[in-house]
Amino acid sequence: MPITGGCLCRAIRYEFSAGPIVARACWCRVCQFIGAGSGTVNVCFPTAALTLHGEPSVYKSVADSGNAMQRRFCPTCGTHLFSAAEIRPQVVFVRAGTLDDPEIGRPASTIWTSQAPSWACIDESLPRIERQPPPIG
Ligand SMILES: [Zn+2]
Ligand SMILES: [Zn+2]
Repeated sequence: MPITGGCLCRAIRYEFSAGPIVARACWCRVCQFIGAGSGTVNVCFPTAALTLHGEPSVYKSVADSGNAMQRRFCPTCGTHLFSAAEIRPQVVFVRAGTLDDPEIGRPASTIWTSQAPSWACIDESLPRIERQPPPIG
């Protein structure tokens, strides 16, 4: 069964032919912009398993980790869909809220807790990593 998802207006749809590698909640400063004040939850997949329908816009910037990142979002509804580090194009991070079944996005840890505001709701039962964890894949 492919894993499917897309943006709010459905101009962009995607599917993965392979399962997720890991899911994490992130409180880096960039995610606080994307998450409108909260952190984000991101599900990592092998890029080779991605089939994309539609044309996302790309925003390039340097993350708190120091990595040059490409962030893809819908130009019509603004939904953020994907991010990928330019030095690790073999994996892509999907915003969990865009999955047709968000249950797939249950995070295994919370990263960048050092950037979270004092009022952040962080799951006490999950491991916390203050900054960037080691690379995946
Ligand atoms: Zn859209
Ligand atoms: Zn982040």
